[in-house]
Amino acid sequence: MRLQALSIPLLLSLLSSSTAYTQISDDLLKTLIPNPSDTDFDLSPSNADSLLGPLLITRVPGTPGQRAAQEHFTRFATKHIPEWKLSWQNSSSPTPLSKGNPVPFHNIILRREPPWARKRGEGNVGLLTLAAHYDSKMIQGGDFIGATDSAAPCAVLMWVARELEKVLGRLWGDGEDGTGEGVQILLLDGEEAFVSWTDTDSLYGSRALAAAWENTTYPALSTFRNPLRQISLFVLLDLLGSPNPNVPSYFQTTHWAYQRMATLEGRLRGLGLLESKPMHPFLPDGAKMATEFTRAFIGDDHEPFMKRGAPVLHLIPSPFPEVWHRLEDDGAHLDMATVRDWARITLAFVLEWLDAGKLEKIQT
Ligand SMILES: [Zn+2]
Repeated sequence: MRLQALSIPLLLSLLSSSTAYTQISDDLLKTLIPNPSDTDFDLSPSNADSLLGPLLITRVPGTPGQRAAQEHFTRFATKHIPEWKLSWQNSSSPTPLSKGNPVPFHNIILRREPPWARKRGEGNVGLLTLAAHYDSKMIQGGDFIGATDSAAPCAVLMWVARELEKVLGRLWGDGEDGTGEGVQILLLDGEEAFVSWTDTDSLYGSRALAAAWENTTYPALSTFRNPLRQISLFVLLDLLGSPNPNVPSYFQTTHWAYQRMATLEGRLRGLGLLESKPMHPFLPDGAKMATEFTRAFIGDDHEPFMKRGAPVLHLIPSPFPEVWHRLEDDGAHLDMATVRDWARITLAFVLEWLDAGKLEKIQT
């Protein structure tokens, strides 16, 4: 009896990760991918209703800008996605500029688990994990905003969470017997180096979070041993919002996930649901062959998680935007059609991952 109780969640989790998802039909894509409003990505920092505007300030750890960004996130979560559990993972560390004093780093975790997670208890449902860093780089001699780095990716994730929540009730119902994963959003602090990028002067927030999760153990009979193992896919958005992004497929192990997103980009463009007119697809590597992958990758917040075994989809353009780490990386230099299209593509990817294709059947 006890053994059976153990094997059911295990079996369900195996099923949910291996069953073929339903492709979202064209008609359903048209209804599920809305157009962002004018307010959603408004550039004015004083527009509290904009997801993006209030982030277009300097957000250096240990400064008032960091706290203003945090307040923007918590206010958003309370108002728009109260169903999501908000938690903090805090740490502190000296930096090369802090003269031995600790600088605070605060990661924010927004987690939405399906109703069947309640019955099964902690650590039994996988989590699609979407991440971006909200700190901005300290640059001497000017106010560096970091609009692509990574204010816009954070705003994209907020928009995705809000629009996704409008669908989850219908998709998940109240049933405790469903299958499939939940989703979490990581708003990471302290990605940037204070002086120059080294193993210790960079990734302050993500290093602390990955280590903390590795040391958090779920109950013995849980499907997943700890929150790190719970990550079904770690999708990292960074340096997004400049026109004509070229985002390669970096990892052969997650190329299948890249292909899913690239296919969705193509379908959304075909259906006229994207507004940018780039010179090439954002995700041009769908047909990349196994032999073409190298061991090269870009250092970023995925590293501490990848090192510990999490599968990673890194959405960062190569080459980097022209404005990278220059004072020009501000709201005025964002290409808003590109920002909104990243929001639409990411939402489509998440919906497909959560098997929203089956909504067709629920509705009829
Ligand atoms: Zn940066």
